[in-house]
Amino acid sequence: MSNFASKHLKEWFLQEKRSFPWRNSPSPYGVWVSEVMLQQTRASVVVSYFKKWMERFPTLSSLAQASVEDVCKVWEGLGYYSRARNLQKGAQQLMQKGGEIPSSLEELKSISGIGPYTAGAILSFAFHKKAAAIDANVERVISRYKGIEGDLKTSANKKRLEQETLSFLPEEESWVIMEALIELGAMICKATPQCLSCPLKEDCSAFLQKKTDQIPYKQKRQETIFLEKQVVVLLYQSYVLIEKKEEGKVLGGLFEFPSFPYLAHQNIEEEVFKLLGINALFLEDLPSQNQSFTRYKIDLYPALLEVQEKKDIPGYLWYPMEDLVKDLPFSSGHKRILQRSLHRV
Ligand code: SF4
Repeated sequence: MSNFASKHLKEWFLQEKRSFPWRNSPSPYGVWVSEVMLQQTRASVVVSYFKKWMERFPTLSSLAQASVEDVCKVWEGLGYYSRARNLQKGAQQLMQKGGEIPSSLEELKSISGIGPYTAGAILSFAFHKKAAAIDANVERVISRYKGIEGDLKTSANKKRLEQETLSFLPEEESWVIMEALIELGAMICKATPQCLSCPLKEDCSAFLQKKTDQIPYKQKRQETIFLEKQVVVLLYQSYVLIEKKEEGKVLGGLFEFPSFPYLAHQNIEEEVFKLLGINALFLEDLPSQNQSFTRYKIDLYPALLEVQEKKDIPGYLWYPMEDLVKDLPFSSGHKRILQRSLHRV
């Protein structure tokens, strides 16, 4: 980047940057938490989650010692729960090594859940080192500004992006320009860029060559998988039957009601017996709900049923209905079903 462009970018950033809680005197731990939350989630949504998290787990040691249910509960609604579990695993690893977040790239990358982007962000924003933190925003800005065509996921292009980003950063206050590039990608150099408002337009390759719709190269999107599920809310007095999703799988660590594939006109009571070996009496249907995660879109059709015995069923547990809301993390669609079921207890 020419000094001229760097100066313009810095002026723009200092004037236009949004105020976020993680930008006020950033600590290595705060930067780590915020950057993990910001992956896949808009900054405006992250604000309240970040504040809640820092109140509940203000230090590495408080996070390391928490139960995984507590961690997922505070994360509830942000999605991609493996991020929360990896944050906690990373905190536990660090507590075993003395409780400090390291300030070298290699050490940072050896911690669970810290990839090259998060490591770069911690080095830059918290330790004020010259480091590249290349997220999707920076990828867009740099690839367009430098005219990098082709798939950015190839190792040659990844290396080039890193080199170009590093060469953009000045020796003094490199972290300001690093953050400015991220902000520019989020605010101006978006999928449809607002080039006329951009401080880099004077010498941006993609803008000058009218190639902003071709750079960066777009991967073909994975196909969406549509599913329909019958969800059963089984009540025994004030208790309800729930299942914990297996760790390491999609939605692992979260709780859900039992479910099975939905078929119109199926006998729900018979299907419950086949799945759980328990006799249940159908009470009422509840409003259907939608749930989306990764490439899945699921229509959930819930029904309330009642049972006469609190039978032990492997892989499931009976839990007091009223405590579920405050105690355990639920996947988003099942949480709405839970709220719709509370009138029965
Ligand atoms: S001029 Fe346009 S394409 Fe180039 S960096 Fe600015 S917003 Fe992005």
